[in-house]
Amino acid sequence: MADGISVIAIDGPVAAGKTVVGRELAQSLGFASLDTGVMYRAVTWLALHDGISLEDETSLGELARDNPVSLEGDTGGRVSVAGHSLGTELRESPVEGNVSLVSKVSTVRKELVKQQRKLAAKGKIVMIGRDIGTVVLPDADLKIYLTASPENRAQRRWQEMLKRGQTVELSTVLSETLARDKIDSSRDDSPLRPANDAWQINTDCLSIEQVVQKIIARATGN
Ligand code: C5P
Repeated sequence: MADGISVIAIDGPVAAGKTVVGRELAQSLGFASLDTGVMYRAVTWLALHDGISLEDETSLGELARDNPVSLEGDTGGRVSVAGHSLGTELRESPVEGNVSLVSKVSTVRKELVKQQRKLAAKGKIVMIGRDIGTVVLPDADLKIYLTASPENRAQRRWQEMLKRGQTVELSTVLSETLARDKIDSSRDDSPLRPANDAWQINTDCLSIEQVVQKIIARATGN
């Protein structure tokens, strides 16, 4: 399966379906998957926990360098950083509201990109993020850029939040989604954008399964 395809990059804005599609795709192909968003979330959580100013770029870079994020298995999205095991904390509002600010910081990006490239070196991996096809793995064998309308993306995030027991207005989720997209796509370092050779898929009218099948068909040439 997937002859000649070993490294797959999936990028796109908030809640376009990247993580779930990436995970299912990886499972179908027998690949590992790495959701790089959790690495930025873990560094953000640690900076807030340690009381590091989010304007102090030097300390944030040192924090990312000295505390590599390790993944606790493929499926649950849990990670360890500096001896802390983190799961739902990474999706709660302190992290949610600050992660795009921490992700703008070049010293942090430099460290995390280094870790991501190391993890990809063995191949057979689906890596998910914002800058995977453009910066982290520009030579990826297949680059996917997933999109969906802001309303659909906010609706999906809102439903996930309700499932986790978080009570929040849909309109708030929509404005937070747009705010995060704006910071991610307007930053100087590695802004969110499709790579020139990325295959763009709009997921508005597609189920996760349909998106995964489309990508598998492309990867396997069927
Ligand atoms: O994908 P997720 O929503 O978990 O990502 C959280 C944030 O991490 C994004 O809004 C973005 O600011 C940052 N991020 C990034 N580069 C990546 C992955 C995530 O800047 N490769």
